[in-house]
Amino acid sequence: MSCLGDVGMSSAQAVGDGDLIYLDYHATTPCDPRVADVVSECLTATFGNPSSPHTAGKSAEARLAEARKSVAEHINARSGEIIFTSGATESNNTAIIGLAKGVGGRHGRQRRILTSEIEHKSVQKAATSATDYGFIHETIPVNSDGYVEPATVADLVDDRTFLVSVQAANNEIGTVQPIGEIAGRVKEVGAYFHCDAAQALGRLDVDVCRWGADLVSFSAHKAYGPKGIGALYIDGGPRSLPVAPLLQGGGQEKGMRPGTVNVPNAAGFATACQIIDNNLEQEKKRIASLRDTIEEIILSTVKGTTVIGGRDERLVSTTNIHFDGVEAEALLARAPNVALSTGSACESGAPEPSHVLEAVGLDREQAYECVRFAVGRFTTEEEIRQAASIVRKAVLGIRAVS
Ligand code: PMP
Repeated sequence: MSCLGDVGMSSAQAVGDGDLIYLDYHATTPCDPRVADVVSECLTATFGNPSSPHTAGKSAEARLAEARKSVAEHINARSGEIIFTSGATESNNTAIIGLAKGVGGRHGRQRRILTSEIEHKSVQKAATSATDYGFIHETIPVNSDGYVEPATVADLVDDRTFLVSVQAANNEIGTVQPIGEIAGRVKEVGAYFHCDAAQALGRLDVDVCRWGADLVSFSAHKAYGPKGIGALYIDGGPRSLPVAPLLQGGGQEKGMRPGTVNVPNAAGFATACQIIDNNLEQEKKRIASLRDTIEEIILSTVKGTTVIGGRDERLVSTTNIHFDGVEAEALLARAPNVALSTGSACESGAPEPSHVLEAVGLDREQAYECVRFAVGRFTTEEEIRQAASIVRKAVLGIRAVS
């Protein structure tokens, strides 16, 4: 295997730090240089405001239309069904709060909003906020492997259910949910279905029609695109669903998202999608092999290690490993040249154990002993082997002194 990634560079080169082995591809991905070139060219060449009537505006408008078409095609949608946003957080908030606000008091008996217990905070908190519009927020449990079972959803939904939101893939343990089946159960009771697909783009074959979702959220920076841009897919377009905009202002994005549209980032997002279109299957195989390599080395050379979450339907990029008796923060401190993520999230300055790890049955202490390894386009086999060796030494060092 080459020591360079698909585009002839390692993660260290892609992130601009020769000493860093970047294994945190679910936090964000380095922008693909081909995407960066498009954004950079567009920043000056297509600087116009796409709402302006003159030629600079018209050329930006055309570029935006082209970008929208590429993003739409990538997910098997139509251009009119795509609203550009700042990222998945905004898309999730628009989908959930926007729908609750849009329907307002007209929802009659259908007042329940259900989200899985392993959703990203931007879904969970948006659903909690939707209670301001008279809705009740309830949680769908996952099984001990981290899967939302369609039968559980079928048991929970009824004619009082307004909206169900389940993510396509989990950012911490990589579990991939059976979205088509879940959406089917939700539609049977006449409720809306939203899917947060932030981690799916570039890692799964995303087809919003096959999923049968009403609303789907995306983010470009999780898929080698620029930060600060994402999309919300709305089945049939904004006029088909009663989603109200969260912001007030101009009529951009069919009135759903006022503010001058970021055309360079939209063009970069489109390029990121085109790169995925051309290479997804090949890239998935390469990344799966690297992930399997690091997982196997760690499980076989470090005692007291277990993979968290189901391994059958899992993103090819992810492994979340529990190191018995080893605090993840201490491990990361001893491996500063490897960029990894721990099983805790900083909430108001205090690290809290991850709700995802707790949902799959870990206690607080165990949740603090988990490390997520996330491999991506620029990861090389050499980096994987080096990282495994550094992590192994760090664990041995911690165990030797404790
Ligand atoms: N949903 C999931 C599953 C995520 O992993 C993330 C990013 N961590 C988000 C939503 C938020 O995405 P963004 O950074 O684009 O707002």
